[in-house]
Amino acid sequence: MTPEPSELQELVRELHQQAEPWQPAGMGTRLSWGPPIKGASATVSCRRLSGIVEYSPGDFTVTALAGSPLVELQAELAHHKQWLAVDWPWGSGSDGQASGSLGGLVARGLAGGLRQRYLGLRDQIIGLELIRSDGIRARAGGKVVKNVAGYDLMRLMTGSWGALGLISSLTLRTMPEPPQRRGLLLNGPLEALGQLAAWLLGSSLSPERIDWWRPPLLQGDETGLLISLASINAHTLDEQICCIAAKAAPLLISAQALEPAELASLVGQSQGAETEASDWLLRLAVRPRLATTLLSDPSLTGLPVVLGAGSGLGLSWATASALPTYKVEALRRHCQQGGGYLTVLRQPTSTKLPAWLDAPSRPMIEAIKRQFDPKQQLSRGRLPGVEPPRS
Ligand SMILES: Cc1cc2nc3c(=O)[nH]c(=O)nc-3n(C[C@H](O)[C@H](O)[C@H](O)COP(=O)(O)OP(=O)(O)OC[C@H]3O[C@@H](n4cnc5c(N)ncnc54)[C@H](O)[C@@H]3O)c2cc1C
Repeated sequence: MTPEPSELQELVRELHQQAEPWQPAGMGTRLSWGPPIKGASATVSCRRLSGIVEYSPGDFTVTALAGSPLVELQAELAHHKQWLAVDWPWGSGSDGQASGSLGGLVARGLAGGLRQRYLGLRDQIIGLELIRSDGIRARAGGKVVKNVAGYDLMRLMTGSWGALGLISSLTLRTMPEPPQRRGLLLNGPLEALGQLAAWLLGSSLSPERIDWWRPPLLQGDETGLLISLASINAHTLDEQICCIAAKAAPLLISAQALEPAELASLVGQSQGAETEASDWLLRLAVRPRLATTLLSDPSLTGLPVVLGAGSGLGLSWATASALPTYKVEALRRHCQQGGGYLTVLRQPTSTKLPAWLDAPSRPMIEAIKRQFDPKQQLSRGRLPGVEPPRS
């Protein structure tokens, strides 16, 4: 169903009256990723809920309807030399054409390496409006009219996977586009790179991203660090690059300076822009100081990995033949032992691994779900932190 904005609330009310199961959708680019929806379910698309409602470049805020394509929003902000400081979602293509909608971005709540400097998505949201499963509108944050008592709706809806309500509009913080951007690709022994990453994270330098990289992004089975630096001043960038290279040399780490176009191309590769469709797509999370241990895990040998050095969050992808299921299970155990988790975003049709496992806070998550969606209509079988029912 693709309602006009004026029809949306009434449609949700009707679905509620009939206790009809349904899932919210943006542009449908990644609707099937993650746990399968249980049983028959209608899909309510936000495609027609598109456009900027209010943009105040001077205040660095933009309010847009949830179905707005991210690529169009970024293009509009670029006219004012501003941007939303988020990575293109994995698999968006080099020009971001398949990046999906703003609502989908927030509903999945995933962020890339840019969170090193600009924080996660939830920290960039100033306000949002949603339609609850009973059809009532609620707002939170900037320009508050009515809030849902007691909940921080912006954090709750970020990463809710369409299970708590339909996000109808969002107010986000915009950033000035940095006039200068340069990169560094560091290559060397894993342990030495770990030392350098730890130093960099504790230093007064503020790279936009410090990402661990594994092949095929690099030659052979090497691991590297991809660093992106941004500033208003080219001289500052040169100083930062010299400072990092000087620290790397005694550790036998080679440092290759990257011009903006080279940096953009490598970042695009790490976002799956030029990667053939892969059967597996895994979200990895470990404590940042354990990143080198995870990268040494034999299950990851030969697979591409992109992992934020500061966040410990990243992605790996592979074909079914390159990654047998038992290795994914071993990786999941490894991530859990490292205080993290593994989410199976995509898997071969022949395997049935749970996309995620129970979180310790499962009872609380389920209690919130009952409050937001008492008839359990929304995105059945897909509640983050609650292991999906096995079929
Ligand atoms: C660096 C980075 C990496 C990412 N990697 C991945 C990845 O590997 N896999 C992945 O799945 N996503 C990933 N994402 C998230 C990705 O941005 C979203 O999946 C994408 O934006 C979906 O957009 P869409 O409009 O096509 O949503 P759809 O494919 O239509 O829906 C995606 C999900 O969002 C929900 N949803 C969509 N719109 C709304 C709404 N208005 N209100 C409530 N719920 C809604 C749907 O129910 C569904 O669960 C990544 C994001 C970033 C920034």
